[in-house]
Amino acid sequence: MAQRKPRLDRGPVAVIGSGLAGVTAALRLADAGVPVVLFERNAALFSGASAVCEGKIHLGYTYALDPSHATTKRLLSGAASFRRILTRWIPETGLGLSEQPFLYACPRDSMISEDRIALHLGQVQEHADSWGDALMSKPDSRLRRLGDSEMDDLFDTREISAAWETNEIASHPATKRPFLIAALGAQPLVETRTEAEVTGIARDGDGFVVTWGPEHLRETFGAVVNASWEQRLRLDEGLGLKPPRRAVHRFKCGLHLQNKELADRTPNVTFVIGEYGDTVACGERVYVSWYPAGLVKSEVALAPDPRPVTLSPATARRITDDSIAALARYMPGYGAALAKHARDFQVKGGYISAWGTSGITDPESGLHSRAEIGVTSLPRYHSVNTGKYVMAPEYGEMAALRVLAELGACA
Ligand SMILES: Cc1cc2nc3c(=O)[nH]c(=O)nc-3n(C[C@H](O)[C@H](O)[C@H](O)COP(=O)(O)OP(=O)(O)OC[C@H]3O[C@@H](n4cnc5c(N)ncnc54)[C@H](O)[C@@H]3O)c2cc1C
Repeated sequence: MAQRKPRLDRGPVAVIGSGLAGVTAALRLADAGVPVVLFERNAALFSGASAVCEGKIHLGYTYALDPSHATTKRLLSGAASFRRILTRWIPETGLGLSEQPFLYACPRDSMISEDRIALHLGQVQEHADSWGDALMSKPDSRLRRLGDSEMDDLFDTREISAAWETNEIASHPATKRPFLIAALGAQPLVETRTEAEVTGIARDGDGFVVTWGPEHLRETFGAVVNASWEQRLRLDEGLGLKPPRRAVHRFKCGLHLQNKELADRTPNVTFVIGEYGDTVACGERVYVSWYPAGLVKSEVALAPDPRPVTLSPATARRITDDSIAALARYMPGYGAALAKHARDFQVKGGYISAWGTSGITDPESGLHSRAEIGVTSLPRYHSVNTGKYVMAPEYGEMAALRVLAELGACA
């Protein structure tokens, strides 16, 4: 069947933000024959949270403080479409998957009991099972509690009371970047603009006037996808979209290193529940973080201060040393291995945005739930709250499909 030509009388589609959500939306639209302008305020494409995050393909195990499992169900849906959507532009080898599944470790001072964590993990595994092969996970791993010798090998058992192996994996952001950049470059219908911060969006009849760049240029577009993550609510305001609640934006850093020897020694561990951290290896890439050490700032606002966050060498050193020291307390052997590379790590950070005003130590914090995320739509305007990296392809595609439906175009 011949593809119907999309009607875009008022200009191309503006996609704001070149993270995983924005790039997915832009490529999906262009592949369907729709011209797109992709705005990115940074000097490089794909350089926001999606490029610096841990890359965990969350299945819900982390969200033990959402016993309704609304978060689990959302994340599983994202994990089930992640591969299907991204392999349109990225080969399987470019997904950068971790070989080992995540272990969940319960510190003795965890906010919730070991029994409650065990119950939650079991329930998530049941939900995950219902997705079958579609899920981006380690299908041959089943939930199991680590035995005594495994615990002794990995953890200081005076600090960690129990740990479980799950079927959760990570997909490293850096391996995807070159493929996504190449796909954008090869797509004649996508015009990418870097150092092009969008500062305002206003409806103008059946189109939109977008104000962008240091010279405040104004240009008309037929539709808009707002995938600007932590700046999203501020841009939505111009369209009269009010957030349902207050939002907190936390700039969090992790330690990154490409080193085969250390990667081979790195277990994939998430500590639950509290101000703890994670360690993960995907191929030769190592990512480790410790929440209190890596948290640079926290702002309760529509959007955080848009100026770039710069880390002084002293701050980067402090984050590195404090993160390694904290991890060494719980995993002494691995901590010693990390310490040998202390000056090799690159410290990189990005925003984690969530509803609410409080931090992790508050059980009611929006950081413990990702149920209220998704695409909020007005006619021809679609605002993407990814909530998590794992959701970015699904919600980027969802926004693109809504635009295509409005234009009467074939997906
Ligand atoms: C340290 C860290 C670890 C994380 N770990 C995980 C994890 O393991 N698993 C998981 O699921 N999630 C994780 N997250 C969350 C995850 O990274 C984000 O939810 C997700 O990547 C957001 O994707 P996005 O495409 O919406 O935003 P981004 O990737 O941030 O892309 C938004 C882009 O928009 C640009 N932009 C913003 N405002 C404007 C503007 N006005 N004009 C033009 N461009 C603009 C930004 O520069 C940016 O490039 C982590 C986050 C951080 C910071």
